[in-house]
Amino acid sequence: MTSPVWHPFTQHALTPDAAMVTGGEGAWLETDKGRLLDAISSWWVITHGHRHPRIIEAIKQQAGQLDQVIFAGFTHRPAEDLARGLIEIAPKGLAHVFYSDSGSTAVEVGLKMALGFWRNKGKDRTRIIALEHAYHGDTVGTMSAGARGVFNAAYDPLLFDVARLPFPSPGREQETLDALKILARDTAALIVEPLVLGAGGMMMYSPIILRAMATICHRAGALLIVDEVMTGFGRTGTLFACKQAGITPDILCLAKGLSGGSLPLAATLCMPEIFDAHYSTDRSRTFFHSSSFTANPIACAAGRANLEIWRDEPVRQRIAALAALQEDAIAPFRADPRFGDVRRTGTIAALDLNVPDPGYLAGLGPELARFFQGRGVLLRPLGNTIYVMPPYCVTAAELGLIYDAIGEAAAKFA
Ligand SMILES: *Cc1c(COP(=O)(O)O)cnc(C)c1O
Repeated sequence: MTSPVWHPFTQHALTPDAAMVTGGEGAWLETDKGRLLDAISSWWVITHGHRHPRIIEAIKQQAGQLDQVIFAGFTHRPAEDLARGLIEIAPKGLAHVFYSDSGSTAVEVGLKMALGFWRNKGKDRTRIIALEHAYHGDTVGTMSAGARGVFNAAYDPLLFDVARLPFPSPGREQETLDALKILARDTAALIVEPLVLGAGGMMMYSPIILRAMATICHRAGALLIVDEVMTGFGRTGTLFACKQAGITPDILCLAKGLSGGSLPLAATLCMPEIFDAHYSTDRSRTFFHSSSFTANPIACAAGRANLEIWRDEPVRQRIAALAALQEDAIAPFRADPRFGDVRRTGTIAALDLNVPDPGYLAGLGPELARFFQGRGVLLRPLGNTIYVMPPYCVTAAELGLIYDAIGEAAAKFA
């Protein structure tokens, strides 16, 4: 019997069979057809490796105490501890933590906080600015902020308008900043993925530009929402990408690596002014948002264990070592004419396969993914962009396997 399961971002007519995954350990997944090296951290979520003992233990402990509880009017230790822990490590000044359960909801919450802020201030600022090639999630609000394309064409009638800034590609940064200067004056908020635009194709830009965008927003009174759903928890080489730009956004969105990737959990952090604008005896100024599983205790316990791992284990050293390994691994490809735009930010490396026939691009991603899977490596190229974003426990030898497979792919497809 064929499976009733409908998979995400999957064209079932072209990819009829999903691999059956039976286990995970460190950088590896077990399937019924053999082992797979998880070179994309199971879609960017797993940071320390699958089933980190400390996270698993925290989940077990919490499951024995309290599974789930309404979070309006109630609180619990894991949520309180995690929120305090986040405020301690987040960019300075962020003071409040709103929980939800996915990157998309973290961003929706951020957008709603921004609009609520301006409404409660009695100012008519509603425009959102976003970057070209942005990705902020797949709910209607986050699709609106994200780039338009084949992925959301059918839903276009539902999407709200946002102002769009050109991507600050090397040499064209001034255009981005100039466009922002013009737009920012009467804008509610600019939303950006800091340093790396993930789903848009691992497009990278410099911390200097991130800082310049923050400064422009600040001067114009526009809020800055930074979506660190993917970049957060070490991917770009620092705990948060914001750190490299030395900025504190008004609103910071976290998910994916927040629980070490173990359970669905998200948080939207904000500056005191955002919270204060909603703080009133007038009920109409309430922040009207909730989801059933807001601050699920087990997920928060996993998040708290993740922060303990960051505190107690040499995670920063691991990240620095991985970044160096990634740099060594991509170096030979820089001079390889079969590849273009070989790039890296922190632990994330990406390179574009130069395919002879650009018309071939549409189906290339899935075909490459199949090729890699056949070689025991889980990679999921974005079109012709191959990227490597492994968990931090990956070894030099394992990384070698990944880049050997990439070399083989070039021999076959380029
Ligand atoms: C993955 C991602 C999201 C959406 O997160 P989900 O948990 O899949 O909803 C939002 N923003 C960025 C930058 C992401 O990479």
